[in-house]
Amino acid sequence: MRAPSSRLGLSIAIALAIMAAIFVADTSTDYAVAAAGFYTVVILAVAHRLSARQLVLLAGACIGLTILSFALTGFGSYRVGLINSAIGIVTIVVTTYLALKMEAARAAAQEAQARLLRVARASTLGELTASIAHEVNQPLAAIVTSGNACQRWLAQAPPNVDKAQQAVARMLDDALRASEVIVRIRGMTRGQSLQPQAFAINPAIEEVLSLSRAELERHEVAVVLDLEDDLPPVFADRVQIQQVLGNLVLNAMEAMSDVPVGARKLHLATSRGDAGRVRVDVADTGHGLPSAMVERLFEAFWTTKAEGLGLGLSISRSIVEANGGRIQAGNRAEGGARFQFELPAAPDTTA
Ligand code: ADP
Repeated sequence: MRAPSSRLGLSIAIALAIMAAIFVADTSTDYAVAAAGFYTVVILAVAHRLSARQLVLLAGACIGLTILSFALTGFGSYRVGLINSAIGIVTIVVTTYLALKMEAARAAAQEAQARLLRVARASTLGELTASIAHEVNQPLAAIVTSGNACQRWLAQAPPNVDKAQQAVARMLDDALRASEVIVRIRGMTRGQSLQPQAFAINPAIEEVLSLSRAELERHEVAVVLDLEDDLPPVFADRVQIQQVLGNLVLNAMEAMSDVPVGARKLHLATSRGDAGRVRVDVADTGHGLPSAMVERLFEAFWTTKAEGLGLGLSISRSIVEANGGRIQAGNRAEGGARFQFELPAAPDTTA
């Protein structure tokens, strides 16, 4: 840690004055008096105020003064003076080295503490705010789209009331969805536990798709559904699992934004997974995941997007795992990314 420049200047002035006093004492006393050792006190006293470079310069000056005193001192045993000066120089070098190490460790500890604070804050307020933004933005965007459509239907002469009513119905659905997410997030802050229930995964996926309809159309993404009939119900928190699905769909759409329009395909599939679990696949024909990335995808704050938060997948993994499932990512042989998660089947249907 550095001191403000006025305090730094004062410290350096005091250090130089003490060094001058040591120099005078060292030069004017017998060779046998090892005054040079006191330079280490100066080094230790100012180490935390100086940068590593400044400290090394100071140590260099102390060594220079020790050699100069030795050259100027004219009394006592020359041999004793040589040994004392050598010991003084070694002491200065060792002290400087230790002071540099100590300062580096102190800086690292401070940095670690600051990072811990950032993480602690982010994992409470930040993550919460980000997850609200992430999950609520989608229905809000859909409400705006439907609102615009509604205005257009009503502005026609004569107004197309049927179409306008349909748009209003979609707006109500989306608003309900947004408020459900907020209720759940508020519940999480109150420490409410999961609300798992047995539910059929296919209709839950179809609901997410219908909520994402406006965005999918805007991105000109074709949806390919391969939902297996006859799956057991899963046992999980339905709203949370829909948040995961919504996030994976959103990421897939973003990954396909650079792909030619006709080639943008979102594949959604359900099947039976390992040990009676239910598997959900969300695959796209986007740019895929560079292999070095796969390890880091689920880390909080890891993103390759200029506007990204890097929280969607980390929150998704926490949700899937909290619901007794697991999630993994990989690339499809034919190009694009594939995210796959498995959820436990409802207890009474696993037998
Ligand atoms: P964000 O979307 O804010 O970047 P996420 O946690 O959702 O955060 O995703 C982290 C990163 O994973 C993204 O920045 C992107 O690089 C990568 N990623 C996620 N989904 C896909 C996908 N379907 N295809 C390619 N890369 C993806």
